[in-house]
Parts: sequence; structure tokens; C-alpha cells
Amino acid sequence: MADDGVQATADTAMARARAAQEAWAARSVASRVRKLKAAGEAILGGAETLAEILVEETGKPLGEAYAGDIVGVGDLFTYWCGHGATHLGPRKARIPALDMPGKKGRVEREPVGVVAVISPWNYPVALPMRVMVPALLAGNAVVFKPSEITPRCGVWLAERLQEHLGEVVQVLEGDGAMGAALVEAGADLIHFTGSTATGAKVAARGAALGIPVEMELGGKDPAIVLDDAMLDRTARGIAWGVVHNAGQDCASIERVLVHADVADRFLPLLVEAMNATADQVPELVTARQKAIVVAQIEDAIAQGGRVLCGGLPEGDAPVGPTLFTDLPRDAAMWREESFGPVAVVEVCADDEALLEAANDCTYGLGASVWSGDVPRACALGKRVRSGMLWINNHAFTGAVPDLPWVGRGGSGHGITSSPEALLHLTRPRVVVLDKAKAPEPWWYPYGPSLEGLMRAVVTRQRSGGLMATLSTLRALMARNKTLSGR
Ligand code: NAD
Repeated sequence: MADDGVQATADTAMARARAAQEAWAARSVASRVRKLKAAGEAILGGAETLAEILVEETGKPLGEAYAGDIVGVGDLFTYWCGHGATHLGPRKARIPALDMPGKKGRVEREPVGVVAVISPWNYPVALPMRVMVPALLAGNAVVFKPSEITPRCGVWLAERLQEHLGEVVQVLEGDGAMGAALVEAGADLIHFTGSTATGAKVAARGAALGIPVEMELGGKDPAIVLDDAMLDRTARGIAWGVVHNAGQDCASIERVLVHADVADRFLPLLVEAMNATADQVPELVTARQKAIVVAQIEDAIAQGGRVLCGGLPEGDAPVGPTLFTDLPRDAAMWREESFGPVAVVEVCADDEALLEAANDCTYGLGASVWSGDVPRACALGKRVRSGMLWINNHAFTGAVPDLPWVGRGGSGHGITSSPEALLHLTRPRVVVLDKAKAPEPWWYPYGPSLEGLMRAVVTRQRSGGLMATLSTLRALMARNKTLSGR
């Protein structure tokens, strides 16, 4: 339980967001789009400042700050401001015309209310924005808790949004205690992105409070290299997949599974591609994260693992691009999320052995298959337990707003981006209009005419055709006669 001051701060932010939400939701979608567009322009207009803060807080190279965080945010505003109204528009429902005459139905989407957005530090701009932009567009308010490691990015973004949207955006600075207080503050939905361990705590508390929790958690993605892969491109792609953002990506490649028939040719290429990244890899963002990765390397060495490149850093040196092979599956580097520029390599005899290795994992975020034979790669890849499958690439789709980012198993079930994200950021409202003048066929009095009609409907459902339709119409007329004779 957070202390009283922290809880009061979270409660105040929640109350302000709630007070502002109704008026925000009452605006037309077009008006919300206009406001969001202006906020998007302000954010992109300040891209240089934001990039500077990003680099200072995370240590990312400037190019990666733009590629991994800022450019995607531009696409996000373009997508949601351009297509959001269509995705939020009502859906016409089909109501059976014969047995329920005179009715029209539609399903509208309305905001859930206040969404609590709890974010990690590894993409401190892209990750919260891809939840907040569609949430706000849908008419929700948001209370945003950025990571304590990247507070300035979070506050800078929230201020740009507040300049154009007002109190409907609230920001809470602080560590896990503030996150826990936000969970207690009574949101209508919690969207949590972070580690599997914290996610479990948030989900348990959400369940006790009756608040739905969307969870985007850790990963341990496999990359499967088949014997017909384009080896040079695959090596470069996998090296990027392991090392980008110093491996601090929920969907970084942490297990490289290689078909035995190409291992001799592929592994030297992979090692070369990994070594070529050495001077581009930033330091891990916290000492705590470095200690986790170093402990995994020490454990791998103790378990008899063979270093293909990198290894234990000397003294204060950063963890470099590292590959281990010949590791038992119970080694920490095989089983637990590393979140560093390190991966395990396993050589497997055939496609079934590759699949077995890929699925020997509790996480299920992304997976990639690298092959010249796309149907074969798809067939194998669809048997991997993951939320996302990439053929001949890995993980870049986090920046594509029309594709859901989604996991399963220990990676959580949350969805961000794409129309599918609106399934939890909104709730369906059913609206039915009835123009019928006569009493309904299923109302009282019951009796043979109702039974006859229902039997005719079932016969028509089973067999269809003109005769069955005519029988149903006859039964309907008989029923109407009974009803009007009352
Ligand atoms: P974390 O779980 O330590 O923290 C995430 C957020 O939760 C932070 O804002 C933190 O302050 C807050 N928090 C901590 N304790 C809390 C509590 N008891 N109640 C509520 N909030 C609390 O994670 P991290 O170290 O910041 O981020 C790294 C993790 O995030 C990795 O496991 C990574 O795989 C995962 N991640 C997942 C995705 C995805 O889309 N699946 C994306 C990015 C990162």
C-alpha cells in the first residue's frame, strides 16, 4: 500500500481526469481529432528537444531514439487522426427480419472512462503514446505514470498533450509506489506495460478491485533459421534483433535456433554481424539491469556454455554483443528474459526440433522464421506459440499503427495499436430501433400458433429455401391472427 501522500496525489489526478472526461467524450470524433492533431504537431515540432531528453535518460544512440520512438509517434498521429473515426464508427447489426420484423440495430463504441497507463523506460515515448493516442481519440481520459527512469520524457509528452487537450491528460511522477497508488485510484481500465513480475502484481490487485488490466509483459523471442535462408541478410537481421536498444526490447531476439544443415556456414556470419555492432551498442540503462545480464553470463559460463562472441565484460566495461551456445535448457539465459545484447544459440536437427526448441518457453511475444520458402516458413511459424510472427524479419512492427502488438502466455494478452486495441479501450453500446406496430410474435398468449411459428423458423434455419420461407410466413400470419384476436 502506498503512503498517504502518494495515494492522495494519485487520487487527485484520477479525480481531475474523471471530471474532464465527460465533456471530452461529448465532443464529436472530428473535434477530438483536431485537438489531437494539434498536440501531434507540437510533439513533432519539439522532436529535437524530445530526442535530446531521450538520449540523456536512456543512453540510446540518437538515430535509435528517432527510429525506435519518435518517427513511430508521427505515424501514430497520422494513422489515428486519419482512420480513427472509421474504426470508432457504429457497426450495423443484422437482425433476423422474418421472426423479428421491423427492427434496426447498431453497435456503437463508447469510451471506457479513465485509462491508467503505466509504462516502462525502454521506449519511453513510443510505448505510452501508442496507448494514449487511441485511448484519447476514443473519448477516454488518461492518467499516465511514466517510468521513474525516464520521467522527463513522460512529463514532456504529457505537457504537450495537456496544452491542447487540458485536464483530460494527467501525469504522475514516481516509482513503483506511485504505480501501485494509481492501481488503487479506481481507473476503468489499467494498461500496464512492464515486467512479468510487476504485471502479475498489478493484475492480482486489478482483479481484487474489479478493474480490467491489459498486460504487455516480457519476452524471450526465438528466431528460427531454416536451411534455405538467405544467410547473409539473416545474420545481419538477427544481429539487429539481438542487439538494438542494447537488447532492452521486449521483443528482442534472445534465442537463435539454427537448422543443422546451415549451422557451419551461418554461425560465422552471425558472429561477424554481431561483432560489427560492438561500437554501436549503448550501456545498459541501469546498474540493476546490468547485474541481471552479467549474472546470466556468469551462470552460462558455469553451466559449460561456449562463448561464440562477447562474454563477461571486464571491470566496468559495458556488456558487448554476446552469443552463447551448448547451454543446457535450465540455464538462466535459456529460460529467463535477459533484456541485454545477449542470446543463446542452439543448433537443431530438423524443422520439428526447431519448433520444439522455440516452444520450450513460458513467454510468447514474438517469433521469426528466416527462410527462402515462405509457405514452409509460415506453416512452421504458425505452430510457434507467439502473438506475432515475422517471416524474414523481426520486431520492427511496433512502429506500425495498423498492426496489433500482442503476446500470449507469460508475455501477457494486452493489445496495443490497430483497430483491435479499441476492443478494450472502448465498450460496445447496443442500440436497437423498433418500427413494428403489431405485438411481437413471441409475446403472450403462448399456444399452438407460437409453437407452429417457432417450428417453421427452425425448419427454415435448417433447410432454407423458398418453401421453408413460405411456411414461415404462413405461420407468422397465423400467429398475428391469434395475437390480434385477443
Ligand atoms: P517494471 O515492471 O519494473 O516497471 C514498469 C512500470 O511499472 C514502471 O512505471 C514502474 O514504476 C511501475 N511499477 C513498478 N511496481 C509497480 C506496482 N507494484 N504497481 C504498479 N506499477 C508498478 O518494468 P521495467 O523494468 O520498467 O521495463 C522492462 C520490462 O518491460 C521488460 O520485462 C520488458 O520485456 C517489458 N516490456 C514489455 C513490452 C511489451 O509490449 N510486451 C514493451 C516494453 C517493455
